[in-house]
Amino acid sequence: MTTAPVSRVDLHCHSTASDGALTPAEIVARAAEAGVEQLALTDHDTLAGVGEAAAAARAAGMALIPGVELSVRWQQHPLHLVGLGIDVAAPALLAGLAELQRQRRERTLAIGAKLERFGVRDATARAIDAARGGQVTRTHFATLLVEDGVCRDFNRAFKQLLGAGRPGYVGADWVPLTDAINWIHAAGGVAVLAHPHQYRLGSSTRERLLAAFRDAGGDALEVCCGGSRPHEIDAAADAARRFGLRGSVGSDFHNPSQSWRALGRLAPLPHDIAPVWAQLPLYA
Ligand code: AMP
Ligand code: MN
Ligand code: MN
Ligand code: MN
Repeated sequence: MTTAPVSRVDLHCHSTASDGALTPAEIVARAAEAGVEQLALTDHDTLAGVGEAAAAARAAGMALIPGVELSVRWQQHPLHLVGLGIDVAAPALLAGLAELQRQRRERTLAIGAKLERFGVRDATARAIDAARGGQVTRTHFATLLVEDGVCRDFNRAFKQLLGAGRPGYVGADWVPLTDAINWIHAAGGVAVLAHPHQYRLGSSTRERLLAAFRDAGGDALEVCCGGSRPHEIDAAADAARRFGLRGSVGSDFHNPSQSWRALGRLAPLPHDIAPVWAQLPLYA
């Protein structure tokens, strides 16, 4: 059930360029229908969908903000960093993406090999196939596990096999958080720490992360995410105030069947938090 109101801004979603179910053009059409006026496409470690989304947005009279969700590491913790308003031809960012994509390819083979030992037939080849030329993610493997009846549902696929510490898990180095922030800035963009409540961190580690993020030039926290609970929004807003960060809002839309992260269904950013989109140029 979705109770969040409609937001005119949605700065986090995924297309078939990574682990989303819809093409970039389909997402733009769906977002426009949902009342979104400013949309950022933020696929995992790729800009491949941005061109198609931008063309569709122009035709629909909607503002498309070029974006990306980078897989990064801070200390030993894997985190997600959203870059918004980036120049999609910026050399340092493109080099960083090439490295992340190399790591994804390597990890795909390793995850596939583990799952094949669990009896999942042709796991590697089928995950690559399911990604249709886009970045291969654990989402693609989760789909296979459900399809083959190895796991009852998508969440169980992560809980039982694909999540950290589970038998189908393969870690990756990704890239240091500070490097990724620098690439986004060099590309003219703003750096947003994605879904801060989703990381399993103790409170003192979380505080150190926020300080490190701010000290490295991080711009904003995703305060309102698809499916955020009120106490999660309060905690993120409180952190944004204490660390002097702006706020972002993003559904993290992947698939129309996930009603809790529907396009444009987001709680409003608290009034005293500076919206990160005010910092971005206007796109048309
Ligand atoms: P990857 O970047 O390949 O490690 O895949 C991460 C993606 O898997 C995330 O962006 C989510 O879309 C999805 N994911 C991770 N954990 C879960 C979970 N517990 N339930 C559902 N989807 C998840
Ligand atoms: Mn994803
Ligand atoms: Mn994420
Ligand atoms: Mn995401």
